[in-house]
Amino acid sequence: MTEVKTLNETVREKWKKRPLIISGPCSAETEEQVIETATRLVKTGKVDVLRAGIWKPRTKPGMFEGVGVKALPWMLQAKKITGLPVTVEVATAKHVEDALQFDVDILWIGARTTVNPFSVQEVCDALRGVEIPVLIKNPIHPEIDLWSGGIERLQKVGVKQVGMIHRGFSNYGNTEYRNAPMWHLPIEMKRRFPEMLLLCDPSHICGNRTMLQSVAQKSIDLDFDGLMIETHIDPDNAWSDAKQQITPERLAEMLNDLVWRSENSNEKEFLTALATLREQINHIDDELLTLIGQRMKIADKIGAYKKSNNITILQTNRWNDILTKALKKGEALGLSKEFITKYFDAVHLESINHQNKIMND
Ligand code: PEP
Ligand code: MN
Repeated sequence: MTEVKTLNETVREKWKKRPLIISGPCSAETEEQVIETATRLVKTGKVDVLRAGIWKPRTKPGMFEGVGVKALPWMLQAKKITGLPVTVEVATAKHVEDALQFDVDILWIGARTTVNPFSVQEVCDALRGVEIPVLIKNPIHPEIDLWSGGIERLQKVGVKQVGMIHRGFSNYGNTEYRNAPMWHLPIEMKRRFPEMLLLCDPSHICGNRTMLQSVAQKSIDLDFDGLMIETHIDPDNAWSDAKQQITPERLAEMLNDLVWRSENSNEKEFLTALATLREQINHIDDELLTLIGQRMKIADKIGAYKKSNNITILQTNRWNDILTKALKKGEALGLSKEFITKYFDAVHLESINHQNKIMND
């Protein structure tokens, strides 16, 4: 099939391509499965990189832990046949060493590794002086500094091409997602690393097939640079993550139906309209801040009265009253209950802090 160009050139090109699409099975199972997946993926003409897990960090022992090094020649073979660069997950120095020996093109660090600075550092130390792109998934729990800390560790050992993968955060209790997206966290990472590649992994966010499309679309609307999605030739019988995998052909359909948007436009009319609306938003934000400042000044006065009359800062009834009224008004204004609660909690806490300072001055 496609002739393989010199590796680095192909990978370098892919790294810059937008959107960048990485796909392949959760786990490499057999040589036939890896090669058939790769062949069917390349036929869609929409996939840039082949992924497969070969060392699977599983929550409990006894679950399928990946086939290990013996899958590395299968990946190499799939690359030879299809021309697709390949990526595998690494969690130890030995994994890195093995992957490099079999010409893996891109490495990724999984969510269970990003949580552990010792492991991330071990992987980084094995990468000193090696030119290979590395993708790092968010840690399992919403501790954003572990994510950016991992990136800093990679950059410190000289990895030039670092990318981020958003795969959602684990949540206590039942939610509609396997891993809650908490979109504000990848948005914050974009603010911290504006030039860095950011991919979304809807498969591990959703944990099912039905929501994949809408989560992928949401990430595109938030200006992500591409997707990592799990595909399998026989999803129902996959050895891991069966519920969330789709066939290569279904992936192609899904990618076709997504609406790709760009962050910027040169259209004059659009730019003028946008600038006007943004000016209005800036003005309102400014007024809101001024008003909140005034609100705190009044809270300070109340604090002084409470102090001289020896009254507690918190009066639960008064607080309930404020919140109930705000929720009612918020609903009429089309503001969600979640937003009103968070907003009033924040304002209330700031008031309490102000009064606390006055009381104890
Ligand atoms: C995977 O990509 O198969 C995987 C194990 O993902 P995560 O690290 O996001 O759980
Ligand atoms: Mn998986």
